[in-house]
Parts: sequence; C-alpha cells; structure tokens
Amino acid sequence: MPMKISIVVPCKNEGDALPVLLPALASSFASVCRICDAGSPWEFEIVLVDDGSDDGTLTAFKDAGAYLDAASVPGALSVRWISFSRNFGKEAGILAGLEAASGDLVATMDADMQDPPDLLPEMVTRLLDGDAEVVAARRVTREHEPVMRSWSARCFYMLMRRLTGLDLADGARDYRLMKREVVDAVLSLRERNRFSKGVFSWVGFKTEWLPYENVQRAAGETAWSFFQLVRYAVDGIASFTSAPLYASFALGSFLCAASLLAFLFIFIRALVCGDPVAGWPSLACIIVFLGGLQLFCVGLIGFYLAKTYEEAKRRPHYIVRESGELKL
Ligand code: UDP
Ligand code: MG
Repeated sequence: MPMKISIVVPCKNEGDALPVLLPALASSFASVCRICDAGSPWEFEIVLVDDGSDDGTLTAFKDAGAYLDAASVPGALSVRWISFSRNFGKEAGILAGLEAASGDLVATMDADMQDPPDLLPEMVTRLLDGDAEVVAARRVTREHEPVMRSWSARCFYMLMRRLTGLDLADGARDYRLMKREVVDAVLSLRERNRFSKGVFSWVGFKTEWLPYENVQRAAGETAWSFFQLVRYAVDGIASFTSAPLYASFALGSFLCAASLLAFLFIFIRALVCGDPVAGWPSLACIIVFLGGLQLFCVGLIGFYLAKTYEEAKRRPHYIVRESGELKL
C-alpha cells in the first residue's frame, strides 16, 4: 500500500500565487520521495479550495497540470479542486479540504508561499521518525509585517492562552502536517464557528513545533482587512471560552457589593453630619458608567446568544458550486 500525503490549500484570489506554489509543491514532493522513507511508495494529492475568488484562481486550478511537473515527482500525483458558491472564509475552506483529502498524512497550507513548501520533507521526516502525531510550523519572526498587526496578534494569542488554557504557540500558523487519526478528530467537531488554531489545539495529540523565519507573500495581497482580523479574534475567543460571561458576572457582583457599602457609608454620614446636596456631577458620571457597563454586559450575553442561534440553525459550512479531479 502506498503512503499518501494530501496537501489542503484554501485560496481566495490566489490566481497569481498558484503558478508559484504548484511547481514549489512538486519539487518538495520530489524531495520527500528522495529523503523520507515510509517503507512503501509515496502518493501525493493536492486539494485546492476556491473560496469565492473573483480572479483567475479557478482557471489556475483547472490548469494545475501545466504548473506541476508531474514527471519530476517519482510517486503518483493527483489534484482535486473544489469551488465554493461564494466566499465562506478560510476556516470553511480548510474544512472542505480536510473532508476531501484522502491521505494517510494531511497538511494544511496557505497558497501565498508564506507557509514554505520546502519545509514539507522536514515535517514528514519528523512525523515518521518521532512519536508526534502532528508537526506544526511556527513563525519565530514577524519581519515584513506591519508593527501594529504583529503587536495585536501577539496580544490576542496571549489573551487566548490565558482565557482558554489551549496550547496556542506564539506565531503558530495553520501550516501543519497531521496523521489520519488527527484529521478524523478535527472533522468530528461539527461546530459552525470554527477557529482552526483552537480546533487543532482542542483535539490534542502530540504536536511538535517546527520554527521558521517569516516569509513574504509571493504574489497578490492578503485577503484579511484589520476589522476582519478583529472579528476573527473575537469569534475565536467566543468559540473556545465563556470567560467573558463569567468576567461580566464577577464585575457585576463586585459593583453591587461596592455600591451597597457606599450606600451604607452615605446613609451613616447623612445621619451624623446632615445631608448637604453636593457632588451631583460625580453622581452623573457614575450613573453613565454603570449604564454603559450594563449595556456592555447585555451585549456580551447577546453575542453568545447569537452564536448559539447560528449553531442551532445547522446551516452547512459551505456550498460547492463545482468540483473536479485531475490525474497527472
Ligand atoms: N483565504 C481564504 N479565504 C478567505 C481569506 C483567505 O481561503 O476569506 C486563504 C488565502 O487565499 C490564503 C490563506 O487563506 O491561502 C491565508 O490568507 P492570507 O495570506 O490573506 O492571510 P495572512 O497570511 O495575511 O494571515
Ligand atoms: Mg498570507
């Protein structure tokens, strides 16, 4: 039985990056055949997911054969592609790719070369030789990235680790090679609000981290705006922890207790010293502050309720417009 590796690549407007990525993948497959010994022949599968692109991404999928030098890869090579009816987000793309992948080992990788394909042979070697079930890449530098973005990403991962207790390494990417049992565990989580890094960490299994230097995008532009990233972060927190709800409960309890004490103090002072009418501006500030806090906490509860509603509707994670397969 050959040992099969599947590479899942979610793509949003990556028409310019794919002609760079696909030849690089073919050459790392050739290296895997040369370097890694699984005791059986290698077979390779690339699963490309088009997440509602409006450039030449789908055409590049169909022309994948022209970019992949199949003769240079000693093992069998095939390409599967899936095209969504609209943009469903990277997490849906990863899910669709994992569902379609049939490999014994499955990797998820970005299309823009920021997850360097030449790390693949090293990842395969570590997975075959060590006792880890997952080998995941971790950026140790964030060069070429806007300072504000690096800083907010670092704060987010620190907060996420504290709140959820999940093992989220700083600089962790969605670039990881997993054994089949890990993929099956990831697929068994059916929630709609999918935060892949959280899902990967939640299912557990032994993970080995492979550090590497940050690489710039090969072509095109990032599909994430700053606000999309903020939303991604907030959704990530909401799907893995209820800590904000507990925090709002704790804050509410503390304010109730403090206001009771303050009331007692004012009551006793009025009995002892009389009741001169003073300090209304500070009173107005306190009322506005507490009103704001109440709205914030109600909003927080509403946010979790909305997430529950979304899950309860049980809509599919994505809708496929067309799909196909190329044997090379
Ligand atoms: N992506 C996607 N759907 C989206 C946004 C991004 O499938 O709605 C893909 C994108 O094509 C790329 C990967 O997710 O392969 C990472 O996206 P990007 O490079 O924009 O993110 P960054 O590297 O800046 O975090
Ligand atoms: Mg990128």
